[in-house]
Amino acid sequence: RSGFAALIGRPNVGKSTLLNHVLGQKVAIMSDKPQTTRNQIRGVYTTEESQIIFLDTPGIHKPKSRLGEWMVKTARDTFAEVDVVLFLIDAKEGMGAGDQFIMDLLQEVKTPVFLVVNKIDQVHPESLLPLIDQYRTRFSFREVVPISAKLGNNTGKLLELILAEF
Ligand code: GDP
Ligand code: MG
Repeated sequence: RSGFAALIGRPNVGKSTLLNHVLGQKVAIMSDKPQTTRNQIRGVYTTEESQIIFLDTPGIHKPKSRLGEWMVKTARDTFAEVDVVLFLIDAKEGMGAGDQFIMDLLQEVKTPVFLVVNKIDQVHPESLLPLIDQYRTRFSFREVVPISAKLGNNTGKLLELILAEF
C-alpha cells in the first residue's frame, strides 16, 4: 500500500516535528519562528509492505498578497491530489481565525481529513474533548487523533489510520 498525506495547520502546531518524528531524521526545518518551512518538503515513510509520502504544507492564512494567494492555490491543489489531509491543531490553544480559514478551504475538497490534536503532553486530558467538539461542529472529520509529535505518543496509531485510507 502506498499513498500521499498532506500536513496542514497554523504555524507552530508541530507539522515539522511530526514529520521528523515519523521519518526518524531531520528532513524539515524546526523552529519556533512561524513559517520556517516555505516549500513542500517531502518525506517518505517506508515499511516492507507500505509507504506514506508526506507533504509539509507551508502555513496558510487569508491572503493579503500575491504570495499569499499563490500559497492558498498551492494548498488547494495539494488537498485535491493527496489521499488524506492531516489537519494539525495545538491542544493548548483554542480555535483561531487561522483554523477557520483552513477548514473553509477544506470544505471544498473530497479528500478525507483527519483532525490531529497535537501537543497532548501539554494539556490535561479533560480539556481535550471540549476542544475537539469545537472543531467537530464545523467540519466532518474522518478521524480525530490526539498525539504528541514530540514524544511520539499515538503516532503509530496515526500511521495505521493513514495507511487504512490507501
Ligand atoms: P510547524 O510550524 O507546524 O512545522 O511547527 P514545528 O514542528 O516547527 O513546532 C513548533 C514548536 O512546537 C517547536 O518548538 C516544537 O518543539 C514544539 N512541538 C511540536 N510538537 C510538540 C508536542 O507534541 N509537544 C510539545 N510539548 N511541543 C511540541
Ligand atoms: Mg514547519
